[in-house]
Amino acid sequence: MKRKTVSKILRSTAFSCLACLICGIMGTGTGIPTRAATTQAELEALIQQNKEDIKDLEDKIAATEGDIADNEEKQGYYYSKLLLEQESIDLLNNKLYVKEGEIAEKELEIAGVETVIAETEKQIEEKKAEIVRLDAQNKDNIYRFGQIIRTMYINNTDDVINVIAGSADFYDIFVKTEMMQSASEMNYEFMQQLLDDIHQLEEDQAQLEKDVEQLEKDKADLEQQKKDLEAEWTLLDEEKAYANQLAAQYTSEYNNITSKISNLESLKDQYNYEISVSMSEIEAYEKEIDEIIRRAQLAASNSVVYDNGEWQWPLDPKFTLITTYFGYDPWRGGNHGAIDVGNGGINGANIYAMKGGEVIVAKTTYTPGYDYGMYVVIDHGNGYQSLYAHCSAIYVTVGQMVNKGDTIAAVGSTGWSTGPHLHFEIRKDGSRVDPLQYVAVP
Ligand SMILES: [Zn+2]
Repeated sequence: MKRKTVSKILRSTAFSCLACLICGIMGTGTGIPTRAATTQAELEALIQQNKEDIKDLEDKIAATEGDIADNEEKQGYYYSKLLLEQESIDLLNNKLYVKEGEIAEKELEIAGVETVIAETEKQIEEKKAEIVRLDAQNKDNIYRFGQIIRTMYINNTDDVINVIAGSADFYDIFVKTEMMQSASEMNYEFMQQLLDDIHQLEEDQAQLEKDVEQLEKDKADLEQQKKDLEAEWTLLDEEKAYANQLAAQYTSEYNNITSKISNLESLKDQYNYEISVSMSEIEAYEKEIDEIIRRAQLAASNSVVYDNGEWQWPLDPKFTLITTYFGYDPWRGGNHGAIDVGNGGINGANIYAMKGGEVIVAKTTYTPGYDYGMYVVIDHGNGYQSLYAHCSAIYVTVGQMVNKGDTIAAVGSTGWSTGPHLHFEIRKDGSRVDPLQYVAVP
């Protein structure tokens, strides 16, 4: 932003009513420097410069707002991605929890099977011990029968000798020999019972060993299932780690963009502040111009004799549609120091001097979108001036004397105007007054 000397003086001063420069809001600021040496042309150049600055700043604000919108879109994108990842992490946590429960259950099943195996093996050991015990008892019995046989042999019993000679082992003797059966029927039955018991125990042992084999298979199946569950758990845990990594990445992107937006907002605030400063300056310059006009009018009033007749409506009688009255106007958020007339077909219509006097402003250069556009000010003497704004053409020049009813300009829509209309003011001693107190609507 370019800086003028006067800007520096004004920057430290508070102003109000910055927004409505055209329609006569009276600034209530204080400490506006009086610059008697500055001409109206110089002040207008300063105003022009400030308006250009404001336009530049407005362009910068628009660009910054575009950047902010772009970044907010990105921010929204990363935020939704982050939410999705967080949902996915929650879901994975639930799945991991369920899987851990399944693994614990499987471990319990395995422990149950191991208990049964241990119990069964204990039973096998008991059967084995019992077999050993019965076998010993049997052998003891055999020994004792051997003694009996020996005694019989010593007593020379032929039968016995023959039996022993033709037998493969002692069991055959006990089991098959009729002589022995008759010799000791009781003992044979006891022996037979022992052998049956041993055989039964051996069968039991074999069955238990089969059971253990089956249980070991069951246990191996369960352990495989547990391994599978653990592998599933590991996959879920890896998935969760990846989701966490993505979430961290999205959070970081989101934070970066948030910080960018914050910087852009600060920049925008700075531009807006600079605009408010420029607008304050413009207001101050315009007050100075008003003062110059007032002084010119005072100087003129001393040397010119004016027409003392009634004020005339500044347009043809068919143009009387008042679109804005003098006074507070909510649309502008401030006071309207003029009357606006805006009939259809008014564009290019003649504007007449409301009273005779000297033309003190006949402005034909202007900035589109700002202020009065092309306008005329006539000094009528005795502290009165009239102003005609937004013209499409100016027919008078500064210093020219005009009579009441002379055509001075044509209606237009130059400057800060939304459509063809005449904005006209009456000033008394430099202040805007209600024109309808001086001129009747035809
Ligand atoms: Zn107006």
